[in-house]
Amino acid sequence: MEKQIVIIGAGASGVAAATKLVSNGFSNVTILEAGNRIGGRINTIPFGANVVDMGAQWCHGETGNVVYEMAKDKNVLAHKTEKHQSDGYRYVRSNGEEIPVELSKKITALIMDIMGDHYEEERKSYGSSGNFYAAKFKKALESDEFKEVDSELAHECMEVFHRAVNSIDGCDTWYELSTNYHEYEECDGDYKMNWKDKGYATVLDLMQNKIPDAKNPQSVIDVIPLTKFNKEVVKVCYNQPGAPAKITCKDGSSYSADHVICTVSLGVLKERCLSMFEPLLPLWKYNSIDGMMIGTVDKIYLEFDKPFWSENWQGFSCLWKLEQVKEVREDPVNGDWLEGISGFYPFNPLQPNVICGWITGKLACKMEEKSDVEVKNGAEKVLRMFLRHLDIPDAKKMVRSTWHSNPLFRGSYSHFVLKAEALETNNRQLAEPINDSNGKPVIQFAGEATSPKYFSNVHGAVDAGWREAERLINLYK
Ligand SMILES: Cc1cc2nc3c(=O)[nH]c(=O)nc-3n(C[C@H](O)[C@H](O)[C@H](O)COP(=O)(O)OP(=O)(O)OC[C@H]3O[C@@H](n4cnc5c(N)ncnc54)[C@H](O)[C@@H]3O)c2cc1C
Repeated sequence: MEKQIVIIGAGASGVAAATKLVSNGFSNVTILEAGNRIGGRINTIPFGANVVDMGAQWCHGETGNVVYEMAKDKNVLAHKTEKHQSDGYRYVRSNGEEIPVELSKKITALIMDIMGDHYEEERKSYGSSGNFYAAKFKKALESDEFKEVDSELAHECMEVFHRAVNSIDGCDTWYELSTNYHEYEECDGDYKMNWKDKGYATVLDLMQNKIPDAKNPQSVIDVIPLTKFNKEVVKVCYNQPGAPAKITCKDGSSYSADHVICTVSLGVLKERCLSMFEPLLPLWKYNSIDGMMIGTVDKIYLEFDKPFWSENWQGFSCLWKLEQVKEVREDPVNGDWLEGISGFYPFNPLQPNVICGWITGKLACKMEEKSDVEVKNGAEKVLRMFLRHLDIPDAKKMVRSTWHSNPLFRGSYSHFVLKAEALETNNRQLAEPINDSNGKPVIQFAGEATSPKYFSNVHGAVDAGWREAERLINLYK
């Protein structure tokens, strides 16, 4: 098949689309990638004993998960261990007071219960998830079961819950999340499988058949020769009827395409859609880009010479008290972001000397503006504040993500918000192609945010890439 296909972006979705097209006989596929690597928000880098993932980290679930399907027989995934069960989470206040283990367990169980068992109930209600969750949580904490929780502690626990939701959904606040989203599905099965000492980049090899499978040998589809790196697309002109689309890059080079598959993140689309497409995208498409949302979730990895924690320690969630919030805000160097740190956790038994801190929303964006030295010092300060009974050495090394300030991403992952509901738009509209007058797709859209069932996840991004490849495969069948 000689049709010229240009894929914008070599993240999971772009790689999925390219490999599917090539394996179905399309011989003229080019990926234009603005960065200098494949993977996008899958970014596995060397750190500590092996690697860490700055973006996607866990394979979330088994049933219906295309990533799990590719990986399950290849001995590349490790299941969640006893040590990483969620009832092991501990809550520590910023004055160093540790919440008793039994109470920590009860609070975690309550959060899981509200998010899990009430999932269906939530979907039947209208309004923001924040209102829904906060009302349930407040009511439960007022019951006899939680009589040891005073109003100050209740407020701190609510904030922990709020941050957990922000981190899972990738939003800046749970008050913008809509409860009324019916299509999203969680895949049943282990929700926290890790990629041993190789990281999530393994899935890029899986898609290219680079991990041998004796039972089902397949030829390698190497996407590197198809990919032109450092090609930041600035313009896609698709207005001449019957003529190919013209794609122009920042360096002045240009490419023709019968079909363009755009896989850039929702954050990039939001920032650039008015300048990138000529003619302008139709209003229904613009509304889907404007209405859907992407937030910021960042990680701060710290490596120590040896663990300062005990073998069974599972990390802690931060209960920020007002005194310490005031104290950090008055810190002239780091004050404006430290209170955004929601906890530190060990994350993989194969990384015994490394812990990961999490930060979301506007305070994550502020963290991104700081230098590496400031972030390292700030993270150490928070550890020493919360774990003041321990003698915590300086970390040996630190790496952190910057998903919001990176112009190639402008955020971490997408979520469904009240604004999308108000504009009567959703991921399906984001996924709809722009067709020419003959009804053939000229500009197609893939990427995680276009997956109605699995947006925000790698398996959604892969699914979406395959969906758009199949659209063309079916067109030319
Ligand atoms: C902190 C964090 C943790 C996460 N954890 C998980 C997890 O545990 N499990 C999970 O399943 N998912 C997780 N995710 C989500 C997952 O990483 C994404 O859903 C998925 O990787 C998105 O892939 P994509 O191909 O849609 O987009 P991207 O990976 O964003 O790919 C788009 C590509 O387009 C390129 N690009 C952008 N602009 C241009 C341009 N103008 N011209 C050319 N190229 C351009 C970018 O450089 C990028 O390579 C996480 C994400 C983050 C940030």
